Amino acid sequence: MKRKIACTGIKPTGTPHIGNYFGAIKPALELVKDYDARYFIADYHALNAIKDPKQLREATYEVAATWLACGLDPEKALVYRQSQVPETFDLSTILLAFTPKGLMNRAHAYKAMVQENLEMKRDPDDGVNMGLFTYPVLMAADVILFDTDVVPVGQDQAQHLEMAADIAQSVNRNYGKEVLTVPQPLIQESTKTVTGLDGRKMSKSYNNTIPLFMEPKKLRKLLMKIVTNSQTVEEPKDPDTCNIFAIYKLFATEEQQTEMRKKYRAGGMGWGYAKQTLFELMNEYITPLREKYNKIIADKECIDKILSEGSKRAREIATLKMAKLKKELGYS
Ligand code: ADP
Repeated sequence: MKRKIACTGIKPTGTPHIGNYFGAIKPALELVKDYDARYFIADYHALNAIKDPKQLREATYEVAATWLACGLDPEKALVYRQSQVPETFDLSTILLAFTPKGLMNRAHAYKAMVQENLEMKRDPDDGVNMGLFTYPVLMAADVILFDTDVVPVGQDQAQHLEMAADIAQSVNRNYGKEVLTVPQPLIQESTKTVTGLDGRKMSKSYNNTIPLFMEPKKLRKLLMKIVTNSQTVEEPKDPDTCNIFAIYKLFATEEQQTEMRKKYRAGGMGWGYAKQTLFELMNEYITPLREKYNKIIADKECIDKILSEGSKRAREIATLKMAKLKKELGYS
C-alpha cells in the first residue's frame, strides 16, 4: 500500500521556539516512520517580514539546524528550502486563479493587520503587502505540490489549511476529478497552542518566545520573566490557570506533573521556586538537543549540502507533479 504523505514548514523569521517545537517539529518527526515526510524551510514566506539578506540567511541555517538537531534524518525525510523548489511558485500562480479574493479577506493574519490599522486610524491596508495577503495560497501550493495527506501544525495554521483544502476542492470540482490531493491538518490537542512568557500564544511577532536552544544562564533569566499573579508563597495555587505549569507540562512526565500539582495545591511554594523547577526540567530535556544543535550550526557547509540534496530530490517529485497537472489543465 502506498505510504501517506506528511508535509510541513517553518518560516525562517527568527530563532525557533518551543511553540514551533511542540506544535510542529516534534509531531512532524513522530510521523516519519509511517509517512513519506517532506519538511521545508518556508523562506519565501519569510520575505514578507524579513528583507535583510543576512538575517534571512542566518535564520535559514537556524531552522535547518533545528530540524536536524531535533532528529530529522535526511535519509528518511526530505528536508529542503521552499525557494529551491520553484515549482511551488508555478503551482501557486495556478491556485490563485481558483482562489476567491473574499476567501483571502477572511484570513486571520490579514484581518488582524487591518483591525490594528483601523484602531490606529490608519489606512486599512497600511503595511499589508500582497505576499501577506496571498500567503494562504502559497501555503496551499507548498503542501498540495507534494500530494500531501496530512500537515502537522499548531492551531494557528488551522484556518490556512481549511483554505488550502477549499482551494484544492475547487480545482478538483472544475476538472471533475481528483487532480489535487486535499490536505488535512494534524493538530495535537495538548500542544496546539503553546503559551509564551506573557500567557498569550507564543509567537515571534509577540516577542514572548522561549527560544529552543538558549544557553542555560540566559534561559534561566528568561524563564524568571514568566508573568504570574501576586499570590503569596503561603497561598495554595491552581496549576491549571498558571502559565508556568502550562509550560512545565510540555516537558514533564505524568508523575512529575502529579508531584508539581501537589506542590501548587499545598501552598508554601513561591513562583520563584516553580520557575526554577521549570528551568531545571527544561534544561535537562534540551541539553542533549542543544549540544547537537551547536555542532550542526557550526558546520554551515554541511547544512548547505543537506539542503541542496534535499531540494534536488524534492524538485524531482515536484517536476513530475507539475507536468501531470499541467497536462490536465491544458498546457500540453
Ligand atoms: P511563528 O508563529 O513563531 O512565526 P511559524 O509561523 O513559522 O512560527 O510556525 C511554524 C510552525 O510552528 C507552525 O506549524 C505553527 O502552527 C507552529 N507554531 C508556532 N507557534 C506555535 C505555538 N505557540 N503553539 C503551537 N504551535 C505553534
